[in-house]
Amino acid sequence: MPPEKRSRRDATLESIVEGKKMEAYVEHKAKEMRACWICGDVAYKCKAMKSIGGRWICIDCLRQLKEAFDTLEQWEAELEMEKEMRKKLDESLRI
Ligand SMILES: [Zn+2]
Repeated sequence: MPPEKRSRRDATLESIVEGKKMEAYVEHKAKEMRACWICGDVAYKCKAMKSIGGRWICIDCLRQLKEAFDTLEQWEAELEMEKEMRKKLDESLRI
């Protein structure tokens, strides 16, 4: 085989091998990739995420969830008051 043709074949082979390496790398990275269940943010291992019930949730969403939990009591009290008010209003309208 003339050397020119051979080197071209080698180059083709090399590019195929490089392509396969890239594929393997992407596949490997995909396994490490996590998508946040709430915001859908896709992140690699570098972003803080927690697995809750088999689903990943990122730190930003967890902070928002915590805030929601922290104010849950107050929220429930407000809802209860609203319900009470509506009931009183209904009663007063019936009379
Ligand atoms: Zn999130």
